[in-house]
Amino acid sequence: MVSARSCGSTPDGTASSQRLEALLRQSTDIVAVLDPDLRIIYVNQAVDRMLGRPPETILGRHAFELIHPDDVVSAIDALAQVGDRPAVALRLAHADGRWIPTEVAGDTSLSDPDVGGIVINIRDVTDRLRVEETLHSERRFLRTILHEMEDGVAAYGPDGRLRMINRAAREFFGMADRDVGPADWATEYELYEADGVTPLADADTPVQRALRGEPVPAREMVVVPRHGPRRVLWTSGRPIFDADGVFVGAVSAMHDVTTNREAEARLQHQALHDPLTGLPNRVLLLDRLCQAMSRAAMESGQVALLFLDLDRFKIVNDGLGHRVGDRLLQDVAVRLTSAVRDGDTVGRLGGDEFVVLCAPVAGVADAVAVAERIEAELAAPFRLDHRDVRVSASIGIAMTTPRRADGVDLAAPEALLRDADAAMYRAKDLGRARLEVFDEATRRSVLHRLEVEQRLARAIEQGWLRALYQPVLDVKTGQIVGVEALIRYIDPQRGLVVPEEFLAVAEDSGLITRLDSWILNQACRDARRWDGQNTGRPLQVGVNVSARQLSRADFYDVVAAALKATGLEPGRLALEITESELVEATPTAISATHRLRALGVHVGADDFGTGYSSLIHIKRFPVSFLKVDRSFVDGLPFDQDDAAIVEAVISLGHALGLTVVAEGVETEAQLTQLRALGCDSYQGFLYSRPTEADKIEEMLVRPRASA
Ligand code: C2E
Ligand code: CA
Ligand code: CA
Repeated sequence: MVSARSCGSTPDGTASSQRLEALLRQSTDIVAVLDPDLRIIYVNQAVDRMLGRPPETILGRHAFELIHPDDVVSAIDALAQVGDRPAVALRLAHADGRWIPTEVAGDTSLSDPDVGGIVINIRDVTDRLRVEETLHSERRFLRTILHEMEDGVAAYGPDGRLRMINRAAREFFGMADRDVGPADWATEYELYEADGVTPLADADTPVQRALRGEPVPAREMVVVPRHGPRRVLWTSGRPIFDADGVFVGAVSAMHDVTTNREAEARLQHQALHDPLTGLPNRVLLLDRLCQAMSRAAMESGQVALLFLDLDRFKIVNDGLGHRVGDRLLQDVAVRLTSAVRDGDTVGRLGGDEFVVLCAPVAGVADAVAVAERIEAELAAPFRLDHRDVRVSASIGIAMTTPRRADGVDLAAPEALLRDADAAMYRAKDLGRARLEVFDEATRRSVLHRLEVEQRLARAIEQGWLRALYQPVLDVKTGQIVGVEALIRYIDPQRGLVVPEEFLAVAEDSGLITRLDSWILNQACRDARRWDGQNTGRPLQVGVNVSARQLSRADFYDVVAAALKATGLEPGRLALEITESELVEATPTAISATHRLRALGVHVGADDFGTGYSSLIHIKRFPVSFLKVDRSFVDGLPFDQDDAAIVEAVISLGHALGLTVVAEGVETEAQLTQLRALGCDSYQGFLYSRPTEADKIEEMLVRPRASA
């Protein structure tokens, strides 16, 4: 049937033409026939749906009337080649004024008598363009993201050839600004395992494994580019398959963890090294020691541990300032390091304590050789703050015993360190600037010290401490002018224990400050008690002050508190500080004594003449008396040297306006000579041994036969 409505000229009504007519009606594409003048002579129903124009409204119109003016030229071009060209994109006018994007294909069938015109097919491409536009912008986003992202990404084809690499990845491999083709890639960098040392073949990277279809655990690798900094990359690889499951290549993603690793390494280093010198600290040292000991045990070799403590470092540190002290420690660290072999470890435990680990060594002779090398290395003066500073070291050596492979127990490194420390102590005891090897004798002395320390601690806890007092008398009048408090403790089993037995240990362990504080308070209390005897002679009470006590930050407060608690008049208290302590005293200690002196407390130099002090050291203190050391009094009256020294001390003291006291006076002859030399006062067994407070009380009331 012919559709007179839709067609100007219709094919005749055969079955096939009816079928054709039905198809044309169904079609979503516009099918039109133009005459040679490009007028529309046939158009199907689709034109109504696509352009809002029923066929009869445009039949006979010129086709170009419907084409966007800007597209007319393309249309003409297309017409000229109709038949050999693919579809041309044209915008067509919709009845409502919109322009509909279409794709127009044509075929000139002018010669075909059935058609007698140009057949064109017009497809609405609105939807397709929308999809294309979406895809296009998605791709643009992706490209931007890939370019901007901090992580590196690279994609490879199934042949393993690089297809895409983003900016970050180029930067990681040191090719950010340079145009390097994939062929030259391998020459641009080197790859290492996470340890940064073991080379990593390109073929072992995650992406190459992904390309080979192997399992791909993500991993850390280190890239050292030819141009650019070393990087640690967390790298993963992943095969890619298309929608049909066909393998199309692989991608690699790289996350830069360089700063994390560096921070970790820094933290690790800080945890294991001494910040001042950069040397291994105790933790790392013990770890190395443990390893060295295990190895030595297996190879039945020996490990030597040198424990080194600088002598008189405190004087430098306090005298020249901590900055100079720090410099000295750093310089010592450098010299120590240069004195040992490559495999040996120099560590710092803190303060002025260093440790040298030598392994393996053949025997103790090797260790002694190292210690001697160190001593020689330290012998030259250190140039600090424009002056030459000399230091020496006391060195203790401990050796492992050579033995078969029976392992090393975990406590062994600590024990070896303790032994070396003990040997160092011995070196100090024996006069510093020397080395001692830990042996049976040292072991015994360590055990002994430990025992003494424990007993003393117990005595303090149990209240076994006692203060004895030795009277100090005026040489001229023979009157008691003071007492010196001397500490003891009563052990229920062992009886009276004298300072000689425990004082050194008390100093080392720090217990001494508890002793000193205890006796300070006790002496002040007892002195107050004697006041009640109304002898008319207020006694001065002398209290010995240890180096530790003197260097306490709260030394002033401790003394002031004792005076306050007991109500003793400050002028009655005399602090006895040994000459050597005066030499080594810190600025804080010196200022504390000045403040105490300002309160009225007396300060005296004890054991005078034994230290190698000069007057400069004495003059830093507000000293008001000198106590001539017992060893010089001992020689009186026969030893000419001792007599000369005592005489010199007396005249020096008097020249400085100080009182001079002689201690350890045992004979009348000594006293006579002291009187002749003009000594002010004395104490000693001649008059009385140190005795109980009660006895002192009796002495005070008892009239004294004139001296
Ligand atoms: P030091 O301060 O020189 O005390 C004098 C020492 O000489 C005392 O020994 C005393 O008993 C002893 N002595 C007194 N007269 C004679 C004598 O005529 N002949 C002989 N051979 N010795 C005499 P001690 O009590 O054994 O004290 C020894 C050292 O212990 C003291 O020497 C002092 O440095 C220290 N010390 C004693 N008590 C304390 C204390 O409470 N604190 C501190 N830090 N040190 C103390
Ligand atoms: Ca004394
Ligand atoms: Ca003394």
